[in-house]
Amino acid sequence: MAEFTMELNDEQKEVRDWLHGFAADVIRPAAAEWDEREETPWPVIQEAAKVGIYSLDFYAQQYFDPTGLGIPMAMEELFWGDAGIALSIVGTGLAAVGVLANGTEEQIGTWIPQMYGDANDVKVAAFCSSEPDAGSDVASMRTRAVYDEAKDEWVLNGTKTWATNGGIANVHVVVAVVDAELGSKGHASFIVPPNTPGLSQGQKFKKHGIRASHTAEVVLENVRIPGSCLLGGKEKLDERLARARERAKAGGGERVKNAAMATFEASRPAVGAMAVGTARAAYEVALDYAKTREQFGRPIIDNQGVAFQLADMRTSIDAARLLVWRASWMAISGKQFTAAEGSMSKLFASETAKKVTGQAIQILGGNGYTREYPVERMHRDAAIYTIFEGTSEIQRLVIARTLSGMPIR
Ligand SMILES: Cc1cc2nc3c(=O)[nH]c(=O)nc-3n(C[C@H](O)[C@H](O)[C@H](O)COP(=O)(O)OP(=O)(O)OC[C@H]3O[C@@H](n4cnc5c(N)ncnc54)[C@H](O)[C@@H]3O)c2cc1C
Repeated sequence: MAEFTMELNDEQKEVRDWLHGFAADVIRPAAAEWDEREETPWPVIQEAAKVGIYSLDFYAQQYFDPTGLGIPMAMEELFWGDAGIALSIVGTGLAAVGVLANGTEEQIGTWIPQMYGDANDVKVAAFCSSEPDAGSDVASMRTRAVYDEAKDEWVLNGTKTWATNGGIANVHVVVAVVDAELGSKGHASFIVPPNTPGLSQGQKFKKHGIRASHTAEVVLENVRIPGSCLLGGKEKLDERLARARERAKAGGGERVKNAAMATFEASRPAVGAMAVGTARAAYEVALDYAKTREQFGRPIIDNQGVAFQLADMRTSIDAARLLVWRASWMAISGKQFTAAEGSMSKLFASETAKKVTGQAIQILGGNGYTREYPVERMHRDAAIYTIFEGTSEIQRLVIARTLSGMPIR
């Protein structure tokens, strides 16, 4: 029987310390500047590529850590450095996961290297699922993909929104409707190769937080892509659609995981880990401040009102990390998520980050409210965790439906 331990092994500690060093020395010093500029921090991504942090190899190594803790540990450290810059570094991973989850070996080998580029010429990728009228309600997606059999091409039309790296990506992964009558079961994912005519960036959003990460609309106007760009291939799609039609005819309402949902499901604990990183960063600033700031002739941490807040902050952060680690361990060990433990970890960690960063501002008083101190930025950044990859309400809905046995549509 395997020995139970909560300790990271030597290799994990080494990776963690290396990432922490990069976050402390490269990411954090650049955080305020790129937040103000609201631009993709290309030099930092390039630096990450040079040392091997921005590459598929690195994420694959972390992903295949048999304990499941490789990815959450990496996310926590990078996002501890700065959420906006870290998202610019890991955002490509969402598109890569889309290809890994649904693509053939050939597609994985062809497209993932083009998503990252190399250290001398870094590239980014975008995963485009959300639309103006289809956010939480993925099934109401309107972007259409129509097959032109004569040319063996797919033709995409529609507007995607909120795409991280949308429009600046070398490779876009686009989820589109191939059979409108099947709802979310009639969706498929496509690769839009670099410089494909018809794909353009719509508006770039000016955001509340994670401002170093580029978020934009992606407009698709008669975008023609080769048949080989359908992830998983036509045969597999036809089989899947045939099964879905059979089930629809038989009135079956069982859970069906479509391509986009599978991608989101796999990435939820990782988002929880990002939130833990931001929360921990704010907590550390608040703890240091509370120990050194004096009022009424003593450090403010001598007041129970302040000390207890810090105790609660640290307790919530550790609890969030444990939920994230449990879900990540379950995922790698092939355990069934019978209580939606992945969604649970994302829900708790993201709400914790929002709360803890707000408490950090309070502990820093007036200073906390200014851009002279990082907790103001961390609080703005933390708000994203309860929104993207499924809002907190949607996580609760998924958990509740899993517990009750109701179908998740
Ligand atoms: C910075 C940023 C980056 C993003 N990156 C990407 C990306 O790379 N790719 C991508 O495809 N998408 C991305 N998204 C989109 C993100 O996943 C969506 O914003 C999110 O899923 C919510 O959708 P929505 O914004 O349309 O909100 P809505 O779905 O309109 O929700 C509005 C409110 O209603 C609540 N609500 C909705 N339905 C229910 C319900 N059934 N029960 C209870 N409450 C409900 C929600 O919880 C929320 O509070 C990003 C978003 C942001 C802000």
